[in-house]
Amino acid sequence: MMALTHGAASVALVALATPILGDYAGPPLLLAALVGGLAPDVDLLADHRKSLHYPVGYSVFALGALGGLLATGAAPLALAAVAVGAAALHAWSDALAGSVEAEPWNPTTERAVYNHALGRWHRPRRYVRYSGAPEDGLLALAAAGVAIASPATGPTAEAGLWWLAAVAAGYALTRRRLAGLPGSVASLLPPRLVGALPSVRVDETDSGATTLSIRFRP
Ligand SMILES: [Zn+2]
Repeated sequence: MMALTHGAASVALVALATPILGDYAGPPLLLAALVGGLAPDVDLLADHRKSLHYPVGYSVFALGALGGLLATGAAPLALAAVAVGAAALHAWSDALAGSVEAEPWNPTTERAVYNHALGRWHRPRRYVRYSGAPEDGLLALAAAGVAIASPATGPTAEAGLWWLAAVAAGYALTRRRLAGLPGSVASLLPPRLVGALPSVRVDETDSGATTLSIRFRP
């Protein structure tokens, strides 16, 4: 699942919960949901769905922060509970998605998300087959739409969500053709122009992500 889908889903949940959140509700809480929802996928740079994916650990911390919030009413604990809760939701929901590999639309492994408490990988349920699959794009758009339509989001949050939706849709529409896209574009341009432009390479990594490298010619 795209990090953007996780981020949008967390923002949508907090936006929907706003009527029961009282004084804690507001832009900082929406931002905490977005950051917590996105953050685990920073491990695309390390061991994806393992290094920063802690389904049990995040859940325990989120419940601890929630307990502290109920006991003390301290606003920073609301931010912590939402951010870590969003990360926990992200980690658990990755088990409903596809596996971690270079071409997840041709799955060969059974690794969805690592459970550090059990010391093993959860198997992928593949309800969302891979990051950027059509169903993933639709989920991201639906979550962003719910958040935008909610009275909890103001103009700034809504503008950010429109951007998120646009990037998610663009990625989902081109996901399986991304690696060949620079070559296709180059073949349409005059060779002299191509020679003057920076070289662009798109690679699918073993972790199921897409990397973009741009090299400027001397
Ligand atoms: Zn993830």
